[in-house]
Amino acid sequence: MRRPGILARYWEWLDLPEHTVPLSLSEGDTPLIPMPRLAEALGGGFELFVKYEGLNPTGSFKDRGLAAAVGEAVGRGARTVICASTGNTAAATAAYAARAGVRALVLVPEGKIARGKLAGALAYGAQVVQVRGSFDHALALVREAVAHYPVALVNSINPYRLQGQQTAAFEIVDALGRAPDWLAIPVGNAGNITAYWMGFRAYHRAKGTGLPRLLGVQAAGAAPLVLGHPVENPETVATAIRIGKPARGAEALAAARESGGRIIAVPDEEILAMQRLLAAEGVWVEPASAAGLAGLAAEIRRAALDPRGKTIVAVVTGHGLKDPDAVLRTAGADLPTIEPVLDALTPWL
Ligand SMILES: *Cc1c(COP(=O)(O)O)cnc(C)c1O
Repeated sequence: MRRPGILARYWEWLDLPEHTVPLSLSEGDTPLIPMPRLAEALGGGFELFVKYEGLNPTGSFKDRGLAAAVGEAVGRGARTVICASTGNTAAATAAYAARAGVRALVLVPEGKIARGKLAGALAYGAQVVQVRGSFDHALALVREAVAHYPVALVNSINPYRLQGQQTAAFEIVDALGRAPDWLAIPVGNAGNITAYWMGFRAYHRAKGTGLPRLLGVQAAGAAPLVLGHPVENPETVATAIRIGKPARGAEALAAARESGGRIIAVPDEEILAMQRLLAAEGVWVEPASAAGLAGLAAEIRRAALDPRGKTIVAVVTGHGLKDPDAVLRTAGADLPTIEPVLDALTPWL
């Protein structure tokens, strides 16, 4: 069956201008996968699902936001869309611009982009420009460019990004029949957690489907919302959330507070350990995508969150193929190589 894409499926729920072009690469409708073994490993007694956003067309949830934002920009006549990106926004912007037949100009922090993301942006034909500095420097430059040139900004300060991204919350409620008790989610620029909260609230207002408590999770080396101040040189293996000045930080903090939840930070080792645990149950995600669950594990471990009897959804935001080096650096470092004879293979049999 043809998947119609988020704009067609949820049009009446989205606050988008009439001129928005209904762009689609059949994004959304991603699976909500039960993770019984991981739930057991975290103590058991609760239902755990991951919302596997890596199965979107370009491999991350960013497709939801860019379908809406590029569709809106093109509908009002934009010929060039521009964004700063830690990688996934770049690939998604490039894909939807290609779909619409317009130009994509993508600014990335030099040398800090996972290979699968850079390759994606280039494959879809974006003009990629590397910026010396961090994502935050690239975003500041994009803001300056749109003030002086007729190019349309599609970073998550663009409100239509959040309109598109909230459809993931709709899908979770549609699948479960109500909102989960907790939603664990990685936080970088903080657009996604803001969009989820918007989506859960819209559904709850209209249908009484309940609201989750939000557990937003940053990487310890890039945790401005936990520290309470910007981080000048954010550092983490989870490059998708390597952001020191989140554009939607205030809204994310308000959402977490309003929901009865919070935003916490976890060290890189715990993020990578969770990435391995997920893969051990068949779900391979990029490092940033494991942060939400790493945070959930930490909260359960220190008894700050009691999961018993609860339904918990963790958003896993991007596919493992996006960042192959994150795995190859360690697991792939020392692969055995043998002659093609059975004797040589026996140590592993
Ligand atoms: C963009 C992204 C995030 C962070 O989302 P924000 O909206 O920036 O908070 C997390 N994980 C992945 C894989 C991403 O691409």
